[in-house]
Amino acid sequence: MTTRILTVDDIEINLRLLEMTLEELPAVIDRSLSGLDAIEKAKEHEYAVILMDINMPGMNGFECVEKIRFLPLHRLTPIIFITAAGDQENYVRKGYGVGAIDYLHKPFDENILISKVSILLALFNERKNTEEALTQVRLLQRQHEQLLNFTAEGIIGLDVENIVTFANTAACTLLTAQRNDIVGQSIKDFVDPLSKTKDWMTSDFVQTFNESQCNQNDNAHFWRNKQARFPVQYTQSSIIEDDQRKGGVIIFQDISERKEIENQLINLAKFDQLTGLSNRSLYWEFLEKVTANAHRVGDNLCVLFLDLDHFKDINDTLGHDAGDLLLVQASERLKSALRNADLIARLGGDEFAVVLQEMTSINDAANVAQKIIEIFSQPFYLFGKDAYVGTSIGIASFPEHGTDAITLTKAADTAMYHAKKSGRNTFKFFDDDMHMRIQSHLEVTNDLRLAIKNRDLLPYYQPIIHIEKNEISGFEALARWNHKDKGMISPGIFIPIAEEAGLIEDLGKFMLLEAGKQAHQWFGGDHCNIRKNLTIAINVAAKQLKQKNFSHQILTLLEKHNISANYIKLELTESALMDDPIDVIRQLKVLRKAGITIAIDDFGTGYSSLSYLKKFPIDYLKIDQSFIRDIGEDQNDEAIIRAIIQMAHSLGQKVIAEGVETQQQLEFLASLNCDYAQGFLFSKPVPWNDAEQFLPM
Ligand code: C2E
Ligand code: MG
Ligand code: MG
Repeated sequence: MTTRILTVDDIEINLRLLEMTLEELPAVIDRSLSGLDAIEKAKEHEYAVILMDINMPGMNGFECVEKIRFLPLHRLTPIIFITAAGDQENYVRKGYGVGAIDYLHKPFDENILISKVSILLALFNERKNTEEALTQVRLLQRQHEQLLNFTAEGIIGLDVENIVTFANTAACTLLTAQRNDIVGQSIKDFVDPLSKTKDWMTSDFVQTFNESQCNQNDNAHFWRNKQARFPVQYTQSSIIEDDQRKGGVIIFQDISERKEIENQLINLAKFDQLTGLSNRSLYWEFLEKVTANAHRVGDNLCVLFLDLDHFKDINDTLGHDAGDLLLVQASERLKSALRNADLIARLGGDEFAVVLQEMTSINDAANVAQKIIEIFSQPFYLFGKDAYVGTSIGIASFPEHGTDAITLTKAADTAMYHAKKSGRNTFKFFDDDMHMRIQSHLEVTNDLRLAIKNRDLLPYYQPIIHIEKNEISGFEALARWNHKDKGMISPGIFIPIAEEAGLIEDLGKFMLLEAGKQAHQWFGGDHCNIRKNLTIAINVAAKQLKQKNFSHQILTLLEKHNISANYIKLELTESALMDDPIDVIRQLKVLRKAGITIAIDDFGTGYSSLSYLKKFPIDYLKIDQSFIRDIGEDQNDEAIIRAIIQMAHSLGQKVIAEGVETQQQLEFLASLNCDYAQGFLFSKPVPWNDAEQFLPM
């Protein structure tokens, strides 16, 4: 911007003189030969200084200045009168009266004029700069305010006393208050002090400010309209200047919706949706917590396991809606019989659990159980019909029957099972007998774990005979466990335990390796030619097949021990195949490609449809011994055997009959062109050194 000086005088030469004097100054010099012209110019430009003659025709300097002062641009413009000698006293008073700041008398001292005007110019420029800076600041302030008002977060500014100095639009909306009702108030009116035990001054909120810190809290509450609490997430930070806290800022969000969703999720994860009772996961969480606590304080507690008697009948006869209604009513009855401190959970189906705390004696639990049995013996009213269901209850108490959640639960479950067995609608405490049984199951599991590790298991071998040629075709390897105290344990007992304890994969690997090595020794080397088509069959449990890389594991193991896949036959049960047929088919194809043969074990006892079977890459069907046993007695079984053989042959599969004990059975099978037979008629499963006699020499 150009800085301007206005010089006013009716005498041209005077103006010229002024111009020459001020020439050097950094300003444009405008000139007016009359008061009227000066006013026009002053309307147009803002002047840093006006130098004004007094005596002028028409309008004198005083009148002119009076008018100029009315112009908004010139309310504060410094005006210096330049006057010839005359009635000085009078002039001076008049001049200051209309707003002059100074007087100069003609002839003036040039230096004084220059110095005065330059100071005024400097002041003017200073003022202009300040004004401009102020405009900038105002603009910025407006921008910030708009920014703050457009954000969805509530933003509140505080002074050093925590009094609100600023609240953006969102803050007003979230707190449902007018800005005037927020600004000027203490923030205390809007913030919940977080903890009931703390008062405001010692609350985290105030402490954070006192310590000039920043803090984020996503589990707090603010007050809406001073009466409704709502959940917020906020950030608070102190404003620090020169190491002093000057105030603070709070940015907050209403998180009611998020909390609501979180609660719903917690609800879904922890509560049974049908009955509103705790679910299995909350039951475990709770029981783990209270057992840990009971350890510390030496409390008693009891777990009751309930199972409704004949619930299935209700479902089957009255339908699932009636079943659901019954469960809802049953949970209502349970709630009515128990105290609030007791946890009631639905564990699934018609199974409930109750955790009783603060028991004075074990009789308390018996009384509660009896009370539940009584209220459950009243009829349930289901869609217009009376239905009778009782309940069987098992009770286990802490610490007698277990000191952790799992043991207590198992004990209560076992006791419940006994209550059911002893005639239902009754309760049973877990007792020593049950304890012994669980204990021995646990022991067997542990022993088995060790036996697999220490290779105390061993395969027995049972020969499989080609019926027509009357020649051996191979063996089935059957696991045997010679237990140090209990003697020989049958696989019928330890295989299910191994499956349950997650040991079946190790057992399977062990058997494959042992039998595979045996096969290599028997069929490999010099005997190659006469024994080259013999195989050893190994049983594969359903669980083993479930492993995604099952085929790969087997082939790697064989390769590692240099065992030919051609010696190996795998026996799988129908149900194992049906678990994940697509994957099983894929894995079987890989195995067969490598030279392994596949047999379906216990065929006829599963549920697979015959037509489905052709989809599986299978070499042998083993007819289950239950059919063979009845040959000569049950014509139905004979018909089934005939059908199985015909079907298998038409699909290009060979048939093995299991459990062949008599000559008559063998002859019957031969008459139907059954391919192979296995059973006590030829030999029981025997250790390897006894099995060797069956090998062709
Ligand atoms: P399986 O695979 O069907 O084995 C045939 C069972 O019938 C064997 O019982 C065998 O001793 C028995 N057996 C053979 N011939 C006759 C006979 O003429 N009469 C009678 N009454 N029984 C006969 P075992 O050895 O007790 O095995 C029972 C089951 O345990 C096996 O049935 C198999 O499913 C499972 N098993 C055995 N060893 C293993 C193994 O290493 N792994 C897996 N996963 N399961 C195995
Ligand atoms: Mg078998
Ligand atoms: Mg079998």
